[in-house]
Amino acid sequence: MMTKSDKKENMPATPQPYGGNAFTNVDFDRRGRQLGFISFPHSPHSDAWGVTQIPIAVIANGEGPTVVIEGGNHGDEYEGPIAIGELARELDPGRLQGRLILMPANNVHAVLAARRTSPVDDINFNRTWPGNAKGTITEQIAAYMSQRIFPMADAFLDLHSGGSSLDILPSAIIEPTDDPALHRRNVDAVKAFGAPYNVVISNMGDKRTATATACAAGLVTVGTEMRGGGTVSLDALDICRRGVANVLAHLGLLECEGGPPRQDDQPVLELAGPAAYVYATGDGVFEPFHANGTVVSAGQPAGRIHRIWDLTAPPVTLHYGTDGIVYGRRHPGRVEQGNCCVVVASEYGGLT
Ligand code: CA
Repeated sequence: MMTKSDKKENMPATPQPYGGNAFTNVDFDRRGRQLGFISFPHSPHSDAWGVTQIPIAVIANGEGPTVVIEGGNHGDEYEGPIAIGELARELDPGRLQGRLILMPANNVHAVLAARRTSPVDDINFNRTWPGNAKGTITEQIAAYMSQRIFPMADAFLDLHSGGSSLDILPSAIIEPTDDPALHRRNVDAVKAFGAPYNVVISNMGDKRTATATACAAGLVTVGTEMRGGGTVSLDALDICRRGVANVLAHLGLLECEGGPPRQDDQPVLELAGPAAYVYATGDGVFEPFHANGTVVSAGQPAGRIHRIWDLTAPPVTLHYGTDGIVYGRRHPGRVEQGNCCVVVASEYGGLT
């Protein structure tokens, strides 16, 4: 269980004062359940004095930590937003010890368009953090999160799936951090989620993400990948619902009969740099050779690219770059040079 005093051990970075114009109709200090919006003044051609509104629920009761749960970071990933919406509408505040800040559709223009990136500014929200309070709408939302929301919080759950282009094994994600104490607490919270796989993902060292920003702020941080393909996966939705409840029990906000399941014997995997990714070497249709979860080794053929419009061009074989299991695959068959076709997760060498 985490307490208020735990957070100070991580010495979170001093947040920048919020420099934007967003406003909200929820009171973060009120108990009970509130459903509302954060409104960002937005003045496009069609609406001179309008706002972009992102949904928010605040549920608070008793004494305990503040946990922020984000969905819709990418607009085509659905298990997390569904689970967050259920929690926002159905959780009895009397069962809670602490405060939940629930945000199911943070990249709201992308959510409305069912796209990874926002059609308003063509930005990937999860490559804009810690954001810019005077930037584009997407950058402003990231700045509101890092400057207004994170300073109130003790823990952060960022619920992703694979999106339109990937199908990924349901997994809870560990964001790398240089702080050993926070790493320990992140690993414990990720294991408490109870997903079939626990995976360290560094995004090749890119820190412009929600989870990297949360770690830099000293928050206990849990990510997810819940299948993908731009659809709702039944098993992943169930894993996501139970996992969120498990983490809230682990952090002390909810009672859980018999305590949350532990997976201490479950190996932790990682995406170990560029060798984990099999990229298309040319344009065509990718034929994968293995299902997700298959054990594979470096040098083994991973699949073939067929130029189905050119009979004179034989298929080109791609090979795995590392040992591990097939963790994710490209969902659409059609590929262009540089597309990610397969991702391999390897055994993690760090502390777990
Ligand atoms: Ca995602």
